[in-house]
Amino acid sequence: MQDYLPISMLNQWEYCPRRFWLMYVGGEMEVNAPVLEGMYQHERVHAGGVTHEGEALIHRRVYLWSDRLRVAGFADVVEEREGELVPVEHKHGRMGRWLNDHIQLCAQALCLEERTGRPVVRGAIFYWKSRRRLWVEITPELRARTEAAVEQAFALAEAPTPPPPLERAARCRDCSLEPVCLPRQVRRLRSLEER
Ligand code: SF4
Repeated sequence: MQDYLPISMLNQWEYCPRRFWLMYVGGEMEVNAPVLEGMYQHERVHAGGVTHEGEALIHRRVYLWSDRLRVAGFADVVEEREGELVPVEHKHGRMGRWLNDHIQLCAQALCLEERTGRPVVRGAIFYWKSRRRLWVEITPELRARTEAAVEQAFALAEAPTPPPPLERAARCRDCSLEPVCLPRQVRRLRSLEER
């Protein structure tokens, strides 16, 4: 049985369960140029500490966890403005077409609520490439989907082998683990075996 799941791994799970398994269970990590750029940008955010921005308090690199969900990890930033707590996740790329960043952010919000006893009604994702902040409402639907993701990720973490590659090639095109995963080759082999 797994102990606490890293919050960042929920992002991987939502993007692709096979990617989650390869990274979390298999320990795979492919450092290509976009990954390196993201690591560098995160380093700048991850300096830690608390600063003032006008009336707001900006907490950087905040460690969060939930004993109820058994997830833990760092929020890049938690803003405190007029009593409202807002987790902000920094992403190096452009706004994605998938919900993986939303799930990661929502997990941070759920942890923040559990740690502080205060409601978190929204969060934000800051995309470095487009320099845009996307506001995300922490809706009941997003909460339920995030909690389901936690449950399914824990179950998959116990699996002895990875799930099959996605059928949706659009995600594979942007996936740094494509050279390790070999989705086309694996799909081809599986279809030959099924004949
Ligand atoms: S290449 Fe595709 S199937 Fe393989 S891990 Fe990445 S997204 Fe998943």
